[in-house]
Amino acid sequence: MFCPRCGKADQMPETYCRQCGLFLPDLSKPLKRESPPEEHLKANTVLSAMTIIASFSLSFLLFLILGFRSFTHPLIYVTAGILMAIGGWHIQTLIRTLMLKKQWKRRAPLSEIQAGPPVTPMISRSTPTAKLLDQANLADTIPASVTEHTTRHLAETLPHNHDS
Ligand SMILES: [Zn+2]
Repeated sequence: MFCPRCGKADQMPETYCRQCGLFLPDLSKPLKRESPPEEHLKANTVLSAMTIIASFSLSFLLFLILGFRSFTHPLIYVTAGILMAIGGWHIQTLIRTLMLKKQWKRRAPLSEIQAGPPVTPMISRSTPTAKLLDQANLADTIPASVTEHTTRHLAETLPHNHDS
């Protein structure tokens, strides 16, 4: 592919241009869709709830089946303790997520934010350049052959201009 900035050819997509360093995205791939924050919060809630249930029931089962026996290895208690700690940590995560959800609901829905005043693109507002520029005054242009004389003339007048 070609670099859209400097035009260097024979380059791989998903890399940086070998000449100017511009990132060249793979345009054949569909753009990744950003999932809205509500979906992240929802997934977090479900995952936290599942982890809490799994870790607490597992530690409960460990105590029930293997715990408090003559053959109980201390590692069983350690594992059960870690499982309970994980469950406790996820209770905290769940509470935080639920609080975030509440905050999110209080904010204006995304559709309302997006439906603000329409943004006028710069292109439609700008006047065609032909209207802004004066007609070229060809009588003012200096022929290339005269430039030498003009330069000498400027050099002569320059010190004088500095004094005033
Ligand atoms: Zn380039």
